[in-house]
Amino acid sequence: MDSFNTKAIHGNKLPAFIQSKVTPIYQTSVFSFNSLEEMEGYYSGDSPYLYTRVGNPNSDELANVTARLEGAPAGAAASSGLGAIMAAVLAVAKSGDHLVAAHDVYGGTFYMLKEELARMGIETSFVDFEDKQAVEAAIRPETVILYTESVTNPFLRVENIEEMAAVAKKHDLVFIVDNTFATPYLVQPYALGADLVVHSATKYIGGHSDVSAGVLCGKEEYVELARSRIVNIGLNLSPFESWLACRGAKTLGLRMERQSANAQKAAEWLTSQPKVKKVFYPTTVSDKGNGAIITIHLADDADESGFFRSLGWIQLVPSLAGVETTVSWPFGTSHRALSLEEKKAVGVSEKTVRISIGIEEAADIIGQLENALAGA
Ligand SMILES: *Cc1c(COP(=O)(O)O)cnc(C)c1O
Repeated sequence: MDSFNTKAIHGNKLPAFIQSKVTPIYQTSVFSFNSLEEMEGYYSGDSPYLYTRVGNPNSDELANVTARLEGAPAGAAASSGLGAIMAAVLAVAKSGDHLVAAHDVYGGTFYMLKEELARMGIETSFVDFEDKQAVEAAIRPETVILYTESVTNPFLRVENIEEMAAVAKKHDLVFIVDNTFATPYLVQPYALGADLVVHSATKYIGGHSDVSAGVLCGKEEYVELARSRIVNIGLNLSPFESWLACRGAKTLGLRMERQSANAQKAAEWLTSQPKVKKVFYPTTVSDKGNGAIITIHLADDADESGFFRSLGWIQLVPSLAGVETTVSWPFGTSHRALSLEEKKAVGVSEKTVRISIGIEEAADIIGQLENALAGA
């Protein structure tokens, strides 16, 4: 007869035949085997899972669904967007190598490349990707990666992915594109020539502001190298976070369709507002829409504190991409570490507001923005 504690531990085995409609959460750090032969099967490829850092069904589901949505042959999940970017870069670059990256990449990416990778002996030149000649001029014999974003933050510059893919090909560079803002619903960089596509699944793939996650996909050979980095450095994503991101991915298309349509209406309305000096909202992202982020400069005489105090149900949060409409203040958050001169160079001032449009009714969103502008 097993003792109380033994029963507490071994009395919880479920029958193997249960077929749940939704993938269960494999909240386990390790997998078990019925025999030495079966365990040997892991190494011969017959059984897929051994240890969660090395591979987990939920992380694989996120990797696979993202790869399918991006039209890429392979994918891998990572601990966060930055984890995915780190794995993608280290899949290719080693000490002594060099990167050419767009000067307007996401702030966290900028610091990772500039500080952390530099410490590992991987140097990055940041270049204005609007200037193709400057991009080509920055390429050195030791350059191995060309890095950019399909739509940039916070001014929503739309990258010419095909043109940059051609530059990468000409110079034999691996072309990495961060597709977080556009999402594969609007843009599929792999089909346009990217070797690797990276995502902060914290944003639209997750879509509900309840998970920190990353995912990358692309050519099998690079994804396999990135997967080795994820496993060996410990950049893996937990089963629960993977599961949440997968749940989000199911409604990515519905959310992007709705959020893009709402953003289009809000951007048009903002353009006619006297308290708004300038509206940044792209027109050429895709024929399905132009995304859900709008950045504005408030008028010179507007009071930004008043704007942020008069937001009603719109929350002030330093992130984006949830189902709720939110606003952020790049001057004091994402671009805080920049000097005043650097902020000026990238165009961020106290009057800059980034708006992440949600799935509410467009008229209600505009109503809240109207109140906020009245308070500005
Ligand atoms: C948020 C973000 C990242 C970083 O993702 P985390 O999940 O926060 O690590 C990278 N790129 C872009 C474009 C982002 O918006």
